[in-house]
Amino acid sequence: MDSLAAPQDHLVEQLLSPRTQAQRRLKDIDKQYVGFATLPNQVHRKSVKKGFDFTLMVAGESGLGKSTLVHSLFLTDLYKDRKLLSAEERISQTVEILKHTVDIEEKGVKLKLTIVDTPGFGDAVNNSECWKPITDYVDQQFEQYFRDESGLNRKNIQDNRVHCCLYFISPFGHGLRPVDVGFMKALHEKVNIVPLIAKADCLVPGEIRKLKERIREEIDKFGIHVYQFPECDSDEDEDFKQQDRELKESAPFAVIGSNTVVEAKGQRVRGRLYPWGIVEVENQAHCDFVKLRNMLIRTHMHDLKDVTCDVHYENYRAHCIQQMTSKLTQDSRMESPIPILPLPTPDAETEKLIRMKQQMQDQ
Ligand code: GDP
Repeated sequence: MDSLAAPQDHLVEQLLSPRTQAQRRLKDIDKQYVGFATLPNQVHRKSVKKGFDFTLMVAGESGLGKSTLVHSLFLTDLYKDRKLLSAEERISQTVEILKHTVDIEEKGVKLKLTIVDTPGFGDAVNNSECWKPITDYVDQQFEQYFRDESGLNRKNIQDNRVHCCLYFISPFGHGLRPVDVGFMKALHEKVNIVPLIAKADCLVPGEIRKLKERIREEIDKFGIHVYQFPECDSDEDEDFKQQDRELKESAPFAVIGSNTVVEAKGQRVRGRLYPWGIVEVENQAHCDFVKLRNMLIRTHMHDLKDVTCDVHYENYRAHCIQQMTSKLTQDSRMESPIPILPLPTPDAETEKLIRMKQQMQDQ
């Protein structure tokens, strides 16, 4: 019967209007799809509606151009009311933690950007342990998140964890200073550190190359774990792979910041106007600003958040749970005359996961 019906169906199909034919074809396609191919669209719509957040910390000696760079990166002046301290005031000043939050929107996508500034860092005569208020701050944010997550209402948890720390290295030294090593070693297990060579316009290309090499060697020598760019997927196109290679080779990025727009070759560009010429912030031949901005905003923002959540926060969480468990065991031993077996870790699976991730990172 089917074989007789088929040619007739074909004729009927031809007599139908093109619109009805198209509708039928769509229906046939619909029959072949369950529909889960639309899942990414659903996630996309939901995330855009919810908006994104990102917390960036900037650290380094004052005067290295931190606020100028933040302004150049996000084209937002977060430091309008900043009061600059005199040398006298700076001697007695301790490291402060200042938080600025702005809501920025681009093509309907909202980003809640929080900049955590650390004025006073490295300014004292004796800088030993001057990173302590900063490590405490990062830990406090983890602690707050841990409490909120373990609380009753987990629906609207405010995530204040620091996703990335731009650490400014002076262009005038011969590599890392003890305070740079101390800072990075104190924070590298807690936050994604991206080291930067500040005010790169103070150095000629050869000097930048040497300083970069030196910093890379010292980072290795002191066992500092800065943020590692993830491996590029093998199915990415060649252009993307090339960009990824260049990005990795350029670290630590040598950056220039500017709050002013100047005219260069008939074009208005963000730059620094010197009597002998113009240094353009967004010119890749002048510095790595564009690479840093692309990495931070366009390509790696999500990965920075993932590493914060899956590695740094998980480490903190596992540590907390271990401490809580051992305290519980000790307390029970003191109260009970009967020997008690150590409590099983409540979240052994999480610990296993962290160990695996750590191993993958080390490789
Ligand atoms: P912060 O204290 O680290 O926030 O530093 P600021 O952003 O306030 O900058 C201190 C001074 O350095 C200001 O006079 C800036 O104009 C200048 N500055 C900022 N970025 C650069 C740069 O990339 N190159 C040079 N040469 N000067 C810069």
